[in-house]
Amino acid sequence: MTSEHFDVLVIGAGLSGIGAAYHLQTLCPTRTYAILEGRDAMGGTWDLFRYPGIRSDSDMYTLGYRFRPWRDPKAIADGPSIKAYIEETAAEYGIDRKIRFGHRVTRAEWSSADARWTVDAEAGPDRAPVRFTCNFLYKCTGYYDYASGYTPEWPGTERFGGRLVHPQHWPTELDYSGKRVVVIGSGATAVTLVPAMAEKAAHVTMLQRSPTYIASLPSQDTLADSLRGLLPAGLAYAAARWKNVLRSLFFYNLARGLPGLMKWLLRKGVQLELGPEYAVDTHFAPRYNPWDERLCIVPDGDLFRAIRAGRASVVTDHIESFTEQGLQLRSGARLDADVIVAATGLNLKLLSGIGLVVDGTPVTLSRAMAYKGMMYSDIPNLASAFGYTNASWTLKCDLTAEYVCRLLNHMEQHGYVQCTPRQRDPDVKAEPALNFISGYVQRALPSLPSQGSRMPWRVYQNYVFDLMTMRLGRVADEAMEFRAAAGGPHPR
Ligand SMILES: Cc1cc2nc3c(=O)[nH]c(=O)nc-3n(C[C@H](O)[C@H](O)[C@H](O)COP(=O)(O)OP(=O)(O)OC[C@H]3O[C@@H](n4cnc5c(N)ncnc54)[C@H](O)[C@@H]3O)c2cc1C
Repeated sequence: MTSEHFDVLVIGAGLSGIGAAYHLQTLCPTRTYAILEGRDAMGGTWDLFRYPGIRSDSDMYTLGYRFRPWRDPKAIADGPSIKAYIEETAAEYGIDRKIRFGHRVTRAEWSSADARWTVDAEAGPDRAPVRFTCNFLYKCTGYYDYASGYTPEWPGTERFGGRLVHPQHWPTELDYSGKRVVVIGSGATAVTLVPAMAEKAAHVTMLQRSPTYIASLPSQDTLADSLRGLLPAGLAYAAARWKNVLRSLFFYNLARGLPGLMKWLLRKGVQLELGPEYAVDTHFAPRYNPWDERLCIVPDGDLFRAIRAGRASVVTDHIESFTEQGLQLRSGARLDADVIVAATGLNLKLLSGIGLVVDGTPVTLSRAMAYKGMMYSDIPNLASAFGYTNASWTLKCDLTAEYVCRLLNHMEQHGYVQCTPRQRDPDVKAEPALNFISGYVQRALPSLPSQGSRMPWRVYQNYVFDLMTMRLGRVADEAMEFRAAAGGPHPR
């Protein structure tokens, strides 16, 4: 099979893939690159999810790229606006011309003898096999399975006479006007769907097994708006970005350091929204500590407004079974519904299930250790964009892209063709890659690489720390093994 060669192949044209491309062409202008995108559109998450109300729950000053100001007054933005921002960025920098749409990567094999990856993909509706080679593989495929979301097995679903839908596969023709809707779940998707569907539905019930911490934030950032009037766009954006980075770091550290205080603040916030009579402890007081799972944000308290108006309500109970009319709950109560939405989450999937082979040996990712949260032990010339769990995804992906470019430039300067993180320190202990107790994380942990107990193997969920180490720290550290074209490991 003939193959086309690039210095770097980026897989995925979502938020991180477009950001990676910008950094590559700006910081490594002599390198050739292409983006292989499995779908027929760019935007990833922001193109795939089409459910009512789809929006970010991070502010766009930190979810947007560092290099391209977010100019919309809405700090918490809807899905179509984020998709448009990604598309406009790609068009502005000519990145759109580098994307091969409809190219789903299935396998990549590294050869140390050739110092290159051979990348197999399926192209177009016929899934025709195509082959590429590259010196460096940059995986920007997100973190979940695009094929299907997570739906638990409930007894009796086949009996249900209404519609059962999953937000990842929203049926565009679904008309829920005047219908009774039950949204199962209490995560970011559920709290987005409930107020959005309540605008047209007869009533929306959010059915949760257990509560989630929910905080209301203004959808518009008044300080950022004022700064835009006073400063040039780039400067105003940088100031708003830093303000929000520091704010989220402050609240995250407060939650970890003084969980009792943070619990009290969050409970108080909900009580103020819903009034003293509302059963806050039943529906909004989780058993776990804040940030053991991702904190949910509701812009301008929209969820609480829908509850106050009687258009939405929360039920905390367990599903016994589906019935013809709706749901039978463990408490004995019944919930009748015309539409049930399973906002039960995603299937976490790293590397998008791409089969990796290194010098003839298939890679078992769960045996690898993450290096600086962006590469993996014993896997050469491969980086992966994986964002923060406690802050905006793009903050980390921007830093990773800069670091990859520094690494590529270092290799070029020294004539290296291979870089491989090697974990040889006996004092480094393996730990779970993610410290969330959320179901989707726990289900996936056995298949994920580990992180180490200290640098450079530890994944720091801290932008300021990462900024210092990834922008200013040494690329040629003790864990990175470089190899020059002609021979074995190059002495550093
Ligand atoms: C509903 C929802 C809301 C979210 N809100 C926020 C938020 O507010 N803040 C935040 O920080 N994060 C949020 N996230 C996380 C979000 O996914 C990231 O913020 C970000 O959009 C991820 O961008 P990405 O480019 O890394 O991955 P994705 O957006 O998942 O894009 C990956 C791309 O890679 C392509 N791809 C995958 N596998 C292959 C393959 N084998 N071959 C070729 N192409 C492939 C996909 O088709 C896709 O286009 C949210 C996630 C969801 C699902």
